[in-house]
Amino acid sequence: MQKGTIGVTTENIFPVIKKFLYSDHEIFLRELVSNAVDATQKIRTLSSFGEFKGELGTLDVRVKIDKEAGTLTVSDRGIGMTAEDLDKYINQIAFSGAEEFLSKFKDKANTIIGHFGLGFYSAFMVAKKVVIETRSWQDGAEAVRWECDGSPEYTMGEGSRTDRGTDIILYIDDDNKEFLEQLRVDTLLKKYCRFLPVPVISGKEQEWKDGKYVDTDRDLVVNATEPSWMKKPADLTDKDYLDFYHELYPGQDDPLFWIHLNVDFPFTLTGILYFPKIKNNFDIRKDRISLYCNQVFVTDSVEGVVPEFMMLMQGVIDSPDIPLNVSRSYLQSDTAVKKISGYITKKVASRLEDLFKADRADFEKKWDDIRLFIVYGMLTDDKFCDSAMKFMLFKDTEGRYFTLDEYKTLVEASQTDKDGNIVYLYATDPTAQYSYIKAANDKGYNVLLLDGQLDNHFVQLLERKLEKTQLVRVDSDVVENLIRKDNRKEADLTPLQRNIMTTLFSSQVPEIEKTNFIVSFEAMAADSAPVVITQNEYMRRMKDLATMQPGMSFYGEMPDSYMLVVNTEHPLVKGLRYAADKALDAQVEPLMSKVEADNASVEAIRKGAKDGKLSAEEDKQISDLEKAVADARAEQDKLVRDYAAGQPLVKQLIDLALLGNGLLKGEALNGFVSRSVELLMK
Ligand code: ADP
Repeated sequence: MQKGTIGVTTENIFPVIKKFLYSDHEIFLRELVSNAVDATQKIRTLSSFGEFKGELGTLDVRVKIDKEAGTLTVSDRGIGMTAEDLDKYINQIAFSGAEEFLSKFKDKANTIIGHFGLGFYSAFMVAKKVVIETRSWQDGAEAVRWECDGSPEYTMGEGSRTDRGTDIILYIDDDNKEFLEQLRVDTLLKKYCRFLPVPVISGKEQEWKDGKYVDTDRDLVVNATEPSWMKKPADLTDKDYLDFYHELYPGQDDPLFWIHLNVDFPFTLTGILYFPKIKNNFDIRKDRISLYCNQVFVTDSVEGVVPEFMMLMQGVIDSPDIPLNVSRSYLQSDTAVKKISGYITKKVASRLEDLFKADRADFEKKWDDIRLFIVYGMLTDDKFCDSAMKFMLFKDTEGRYFTLDEYKTLVEASQTDKDGNIVYLYATDPTAQYSYIKAANDKGYNVLLLDGQLDNHFVQLLERKLEKTQLVRVDSDVVENLIRKDNRKEADLTPLQRNIMTTLFSSQVPEIEKTNFIVSFEAMAADSAPVVITQNEYMRRMKDLATMQPGMSFYGEMPDSYMLVVNTEHPLVKGLRYAADKALDAQVEPLMSKVEADNASVEAIRKGAKDGKLSAEEDKQISDLEKAVADARAEQDKLVRDYAAGQPLVKQLIDLALLGNGLLKGEALNGFVSRSVELLMK
C-alpha cells in the first residue's frame, strides 16, 4: 500500500477547488464524463495505430447512482491507468496527461478532449471521498485502487477491476445529495453530454406499464454521438438540418436558413448557425447559440463571445480553441474567442451573399424576415456592415426589391438635386403617408419602405455609408421641395397678399395639444393639393431618436412643429386670394403702409441720435411710434381674422390636409363633418 501527499505546492488545494474554482458545482459531472470519453477515444486511437492489439469491445461510458451507498460512479472502458499513470496524472495535479498524449499522436489527436486542467479534482466539489478503480490497457497491467478523502493525503494499492478501464466512484457529501437523484443527473447529462462522441449510458429506458413508468432492460443512451455539425455538409440534406434544429429547439417554427461552419485554419471550428424566424419585435430568446468544445457543452450564455447581432441566431459552435472552465468575462477577452467571433461574422456575411447570388428570388422572399437581423448586424458591426452592402436589399412601397447599386441606378437621373446629391425618399407607414407617396410617384419619384423599428438609426447609417446621398421622408416637405431642383417656381405673392393670406390661414388652424403649425406658401402644380402638411426631416429625426434614447428628452418634450404649406397655384387658393384682395386690400393697405412708415421713422430717429444717445423727447417719439405700429398690426390682424371667420372654405382646406395626416380628431373632426354637410347643402 502506497501512501503519499498529493503534489501540489499549495498546502491544501481542495477548499480552493470546492469554493472558488468553479462557480457551478454541477460541472463535475461534465469533467468526469469527459475524462471517461477522452480515455475511450484514446484506446480507439491506440487501436487504430496498431499499438493496442486486443479487443476493443463495446465502448461506452456509464453513469450509475447507488443511493444506499451514497455513491455516483462514472465507468469507462478506455485506456485505464497504471500506478505510475496515477502518480503522474492524478497525484501530480499540475501535470496534464493529455498534453503528453497529444504530442505523441499529434495528427489524430484533435479528437481528444484535453483542455480540462484540474478536471478530475472537481469531483471534490461534491464528494467527501473519491475512489478510482482502474486497470490499464497495457499487457499485464495490474488493477489499482486510489482513494482520497479530500485532504491532501491519498492511498494507493491493489485494485479490484478485472477488465480494462476506469471507475471513478464519488461518495457524495451531505450538501450535494441532489446528485444522487436520477432525474437531476439525467438532466445534467442531457445538458453537458448530449453530443459527446461516445455513448453515455445512465440507467435504463423506461416504459409505461400498469399505470406507472418502469425500467426496461434496455440501456438509456443520453447522447447523440454524431451530431450534425460534426458531419460534412455534403453528407447532410435540408431535412437533416431541419431535424437537427428541431432536436435543439423543440416546438419552434422552421428556421429560414442555416450556415454550416467548418474550418481548421487558423483555428478549428465547426458548427451550424440557424436564422430563426424573427417576429418584428425583439423577443428575448433564451434558446440561442450554444458553445461546445469537442462536443462537450460549455455554455449558452454567449454575450460577448459571438458578435452581438448574432444573439438573434440559434445553433451550435464547437471549437477546441474555446477555453473551458473560465468565467465569461475571461472568455470575452480571450484572443482566440475574438478571432472566432470575427471569423463567424465573415462567414455569415459570405454565406448570405452566396444565398443572394444563388437564388435571388428566394432571398427576396426571405428578406422581410431576415431584414431585422441584417440591419441590426450592420448597425452594430462595421465589418459586417461593409459586407452586407453587397447583398442588402431595399424594398420600395410597391414591394419591389433592389440592391444598393440597382437602386442608385434607378433613381439617379430623376432624384438628384441641384447640388448633385441623390435623394432617396422613404415612407415609414404606407397607409398614413399614402397621399405623399402618391404625389411623389406622380412626379416620377420612387419611394422606399423603411418601416422597421431600427430604421431611424439605419437611415443615418446609410447616409454615412453612401456617398452624396440623402434620405428624406416623403412627408417632410411638399413634393416640389423634396428634391430641390433649379427650376423651382416661387410663390407669386405681393407682401400685402402674403401678409393677409398668412393670417387668413393661421387664424383658422384648430387647436391641437403640443402641436404648432407654421404657414408657408409654395407654387406647386395647379392639380396638387391646395394645402399640404409636412414635418421637417431633421426635427422629426431628432424627436424619433429622442424616444429611443435616454438623455435626449430635450427634443422629446418639444411640441411637434408642422409646416402648413399653401399651394398658391391651386384654383381654390387663387379664388380665396382674389376674394381677400377685394374685401381687405382697401383697409389693410393703409395699415400696412402706416406700419412701414412708422417703423422707418423709428429707424431714422435711432440713426440720427448723437453718439448713439437718445434725448428724452426722442425716447417718447419712439415709444409713441411703436405703440402706433402695434395698434395698426392689431387692427389689421383683427380685420383679417374677422374676415377669415366667415370663410368656411379656408377651414375646410386646412381640415382636409389635417385629415390626410391623421391629425384631425375629436371636436375638430366633428366640426369638419358638420361644415362639410353645410357646404354641400349650398
Ligand atoms: P486533464 O483532463 O486536463 O488532463 P484531469 O485532472 O481531468 O486533467 O485528468 C488528469 C489526467 O488523468 C488525464 O489527463 C488522464 O491522463 C488521467 N485520467 C483522468 N480520468 C481518466 C480516465 N477515466 N481514464 C484514464 N485516464 C484518466
